[in-house]
Amino acid sequence: MGKPMETDLDVLVVGAGIAGINAAYHLSTSMPSKRFAVLEAHESFGGTWLIHTYPGVRSDTELYTLGFSFKPWTGAPYAGGAEIQAYLGETIDEFGLGPHFRYNHSITQASWSTDDQCWTVRGTDTATGDPFRITTRFLWMCHGYYGHDKGHTPTWPGMEDFGGRWIHPQHWPQDADLAGRDVVVVGSGATMATLVPEIADECRHVTVVQRSPTYFFQSPNAEPLADQLRGLATPEEWIHQIIRTKAVGEMQAMTELQMSHPEMSRAGLIQMVAQQLPEGYDVETHFTPRHLPHEQRVCRILDGNLFTKIREGKVTMVTDEIATFTSDGLTTEGGTSVTADVVITATGFDLVALGGIAFDVDGAPIDFADTITYRGALFTGLPNLAWTFGSLRLSWTMRADLVNRFIIRLLEHLDELDATSVVPRLRPEDEGMELSPYIDPASFNPGYAHRSRAIMAKGGSTPEWRLDLDYWNEAGVLPEVDLDDGCLVYERTAAPTP
Ligand SMILES: Cc1cc2nc3c(=O)[nH]c(=O)nc-3n(C[C@H](O)[C@H](O)[C@H](O)COP(=O)(O)OP(=O)(O)OC[C@H]3O[C@@H](n4cnc5c(N)ncnc54)[C@H](O)[C@@H]3O)c2cc1C
Repeated sequence: MGKPMETDLDVLVVGAGIAGINAAYHLSTSMPSKRFAVLEAHESFGGTWLIHTYPGVRSDTELYTLGFSFKPWTGAPYAGGAEIQAYLGETIDEFGLGPHFRYNHSITQASWSTDDQCWTVRGTDTATGDPFRITTRFLWMCHGYYGHDKGHTPTWPGMEDFGGRWIHPQHWPQDADLAGRDVVVVGSGATMATLVPEIADECRHVTVVQRSPTYFFQSPNAEPLADQLRGLATPEEWIHQIIRTKAVGEMQAMTELQMSHPEMSRAGLIQMVAQQLPEGYDVETHFTPRHLPHEQRVCRILDGNLFTKIREGKVTMVTDEIATFTSDGLTTEGGTSVTADVVITATGFDLVALGGIAFDVDGAPIDFADTITYRGALFTGLPNLAWTFGSLRLSWTMRADLVNRFIIRLLEHLDELDATSVVPRLRPEDEGMELSPYIDPASFNPGYAHRSRAIMAKGGSTPEWRLDLDYWNEAGVLPEVDLDDGCLVYERTAAPTP
């Protein structure tokens, strides 16, 4: 290897969502001499919270943990997309991060050169249509986990016959006119549960068509302890930290209960829903999931609003497979016909590996599915690249922050070693270990994880080679990981600085 090439940047962060803003904060506060930029395909920051504008879009976990450790959340615990977006903007301003962000920069290709020890990143400025090319020592992927271009829409027979309008919540049209219309919402998750109560009053009727039910936890949008502490003039930083710690503890206790007593948790959650519904309502069919509570996220209903709309007769649940769409609606396999002017496919999203970017190493294309993850953050065969993949059971930001601190520690270690690159490589004892999907299906199995197996990296059978879904375990382990554990291979410059 010759002398490493001079690069435009030390670190290039991909994506200006929660993870990318968090990465920018850590880079600017812990490594102020690093030359870094955050490249974002959209016209602004926010990622998920910029893209999703459907009625009722809000967080499903509370903002004391979805927010950052370093920027207190001062509102009600669950917040709408616009409020979250405002909070993210304030964070960028408050910490002077703005100059690092380059919007309308869609990255399409990234090539690693072993000789030059750097990535060359190419893409398009979507505002002008001009191509760009940037070289960087390290690529920090904060691209989220799903495709931002389009949501997931299954294929059903007869779709082309439907004469009404299709809407996917990920691309909510400005002119979605639902007033007085019969609307079908296909889906059972958080998007369905937040959207339906919001549109139910203006529609003629809303029918939710779901294949299988979801668990719901219902609560008011209030955090009495935070309000009490505010009443005592407690500094907001303290309140944020106290409620954040409390929320993580509560989630830990809840997850442990769900795993140790799955049937009891299941019964408790179903009973909570049944109490909100009229006497004799068919809870067994419409609100009794087939999976166990810890296997997928439990959705949050605020103030029972979905159940209120069901009680008022404005929303009907249909739990069945769709057999076919017709010119004016759909028919289910069980023979139920539903009339619709508009069909909203709240059917989720498709997981996208590495931001849809075509990767190559020294000219050889990389198939991400051939790589093995190192602690859910780095990948064999991909030097100087990390992916910030957040928490699945509690707020995404909790793990995103943990991983981002780990990446900062790794970048500092590279500097200490005077190394130009790091790549995970299986040790002799790791060769031939049993491989599993990146998201262990025995622990967590939402539809998007199942659908993405063919494109995702693999996990191994030891903690080094796995995405740890247990935040509380990882929070103890990751900050202490030995960066010279033999799994991480460093390339050093010929002459180390004294
Ligand atoms: C409707 C909805 C509600 C949610 N609610 C919650 C919740 O309450 N709690 C929770 O924990 N999680 C929730 N999630 C999950 C959510 O995605 C995460 O909480 C979090 O916002 C993800 O942040 P991120 O920065 O990792 O990714 P994203 O928000 O997805 O942002 C990634 C950014 O990277 C950019 N990007 C991607 N590829 C490229 C490329 N090739 N070139 C340039 N830029 C690129 C994208 O344009 C995007 O702006 C929700 C998701 C959805 C869809």
